[in-house]
Amino acid sequence: MTDDTADHSASPPVPPAALTRSAELHALLTRASHDYYVLDRPSLSDAEYDARFRELQGLETTWPALRTPDSPTVRVGAPVQSGFGRHAHLVPMLSLGNAFSADELIEWEAKLVRMAGRDVVDSGYTVELKIDGAAVALTYEHGLLVTGATRGDGTTGENITANIRTVRDVPLRLTGDAPPRLEIRGEIYLPFDKFERMNEARVQSGEPVFANPRNAAAGALRQLDPGITAQRPLRFFGYTAVLPDGRPPCETQWALLDQLAAWGIPVAPHRVRCATIADVNAWAHDVEHTVRAELNFAIDGGVVKVDRVAVQQDLGIIGGREPRWATARKFAADIAETRLLDIKVNTGRTGVLTPYAVLEPVLVGGTTVTYATLHNADLVATKDLRVGDTVQIKRAGDVIPQVIGPVPDKRDGTQHPWTPPLECPSCHTVVAREEDGVGVYCPNVACPGRQLEGLVHFAARDCMDVEGLSYQRIAQLLEAELVHDPADLYELSVAQVVSLDRFAEKSAENLVTAIAASKQQPLSRLMFALGIRHVGGQAAQLLARRFGTLDAIAGASLEEITAVRGIGEVIARSVRAFFDNPTSQSLVERLRAHGLRFDEPEAQQASGTLDGAVVVITGTLPTLSRTEATALVERAAGRVTGSVSKKTTFVVAGAEAGSKLEKAQALGIAVIDEAELQRRVTG
Ligand code: NAD
Repeated sequence: MTDDTADHSASPPVPPAALTRSAELHALLTRASHDYYVLDRPSLSDAEYDARFRELQGLETTWPALRTPDSPTVRVGAPVQSGFGRHAHLVPMLSLGNAFSADELIEWEAKLVRMAGRDVVDSGYTVELKIDGAAVALTYEHGLLVTGATRGDGTTGENITANIRTVRDVPLRLTGDAPPRLEIRGEIYLPFDKFERMNEARVQSGEPVFANPRNAAAGALRQLDPGITAQRPLRFFGYTAVLPDGRPPCETQWALLDQLAAWGIPVAPHRVRCATIADVNAWAHDVEHTVRAELNFAIDGGVVKVDRVAVQQDLGIIGGREPRWATARKFAADIAETRLLDIKVNTGRTGVLTPYAVLEPVLVGGTTVTYATLHNADLVATKDLRVGDTVQIKRAGDVIPQVIGPVPDKRDGTQHPWTPPLECPSCHTVVAREEDGVGVYCPNVACPGRQLEGLVHFAARDCMDVEGLSYQRIAQLLEAELVHDPADLYELSVAQVVSLDRFAEKSAENLVTAIAASKQQPLSRLMFALGIRHVGGQAAQLLARRFGTLDAIAGASLEEITAVRGIGEVIARSVRAFFDNPTSQSLVERLRAHGLRFDEPEAQQASGTLDGAVVVITGTLPTLSRTEATALVERAAGRVTGSVSKKTTFVVAGAEAGSKLEKAQALGIAVIDEAELQRRVTG
């Protein structure tokens, strides 16, 4: 039992209406697939796509003649795009059938049993999270990663080896014994927190934001410059492996997942073995309603697989597109429709004004959503959002809710476009437009809106990390006029804090102690905490490491700041503007008087040894992993890139170094080994 493509000979005549509708759906789904797989910019929601897909499947089941070989229902993914080499998969990478409810899953099992007998489900099921990322196939030879490829059209994928090598979860060498040749399959994804940070950075630099982590991950994987891929913190979960004979290397799916983990491949959490479909449905209910919200990555369901590989092989595939022995138990879409009641504006810590949507409360992804960020005024215009619109809201896991866009068909003429504010909603100062970007900001450094957000940022975990200084507590301190800026925090007494609502002697003492402890935070954190426009955590670190003290940064010229690798002119100008401003100067002096640490402990050892060097690492190093070697270079103020060019200072080559080594030799670039790298970084 392998393939059951439709038998067209017995097909009843197709009525014209069905013919027209199927042609419409055909065109719609083909265009949507192109937007989704090739452009990484979906034009339909997944729920809409799935609904139309099922409608077409329904028509094709009734009139099999409609199921032409180019129908979206018999195709997987999208053809290989130019710009990449091609990679032929050992066995096709398939799609999955779907069950959208507990009943549909019961029906799926019943069908298997009707077709092949009760025995096929006796061994039970392995059930895994369905990671909503981009499918890849990794080829290992004698345990070493040799190729990484996209799924492509299922038979042939794009060769993206250089990009895959930048994904830190993908081991370059498998642990323990591995077969001579093996293809490991899994999903590349982008964690929610990283995705949010990446989108924030894109907003700041005026680039368009990504619609969701899946598209961001798929787009990052298909970059022609691996350097760009390397900047996106991609992760990987493996879920299967195939040997050259097309069979998995284990007898059950469960054992296969254990084997992957033993080889050092990350395997998604929350997998279970279920004896019955009722158990699978109970698991799905728990994951959908509890586990999902706690995950830091997107899932769109669970995957249910008949556990025994021999049974899987017997059951085969359906229509050349999906295995019969597995199906996706998809969750209800995390998308809801509601009304956009208003668009308001919030003043952020650096003064940036961010519009947000005020929504008619709606339940999505298990939570009631009332507000959603709209990122910036241009985005509101690009999406053509109008106050009064019916809008689609998306929320996945604990990600901030997003407005996907309006539903223009539901407009009745009462909607009206939104005009961005001309003054700050908090202090009414006339707004200024960012020189470089898309946003507007409030230039008043004493703006109360900026103060709250600025203090929240100052105390945040990756800044001064003041335990117990929550958003609410800062709002309380501001309201009581006990603090206005960060230096005021260090002047707070226990007696002042205890006078506030919801504070007892002990909690007030703890807070004052936590604030005092934060004085020991290094310069890199303080630089970030100060909330200088455009200076994120990474830029703060680069500056702290390069200059060593706050006074050295404050005294550096624009040219000296721009000369720091990784710091562009926009950041440099902003740093200069901050230190040239009398209000910031007096803040800095008050922080100094309170004894804050103005230096970077690692600065001296870090700067210098590889200062400005552009380093490429290739092959397997004897002791260091790729991540460790990269960290070593970066600590010594060097920069690691993914490809060899004339700008490369030297290449660190390990065992099985491939084309990068050849290219370095061709360009006459120095090639060193790990021992030499260790010598160079220690100076
Ligand atoms: P799919 O995403 O429904 O399922 C198959 C894929 O699931 C596999 O290729 C694999 O990569 C992945 N997967 C994740 N975790 C897995 C696990 N543990 N075990 C096995 N596989 C796992 O199918 P598809 O063909 O990739 O895409 C179809 C889906 O993509 C549609 O249902 C729709 O939701 C979406 N889509 C949306 C649009 C749009 O316009 N919005 C267009 C095309 C496709």
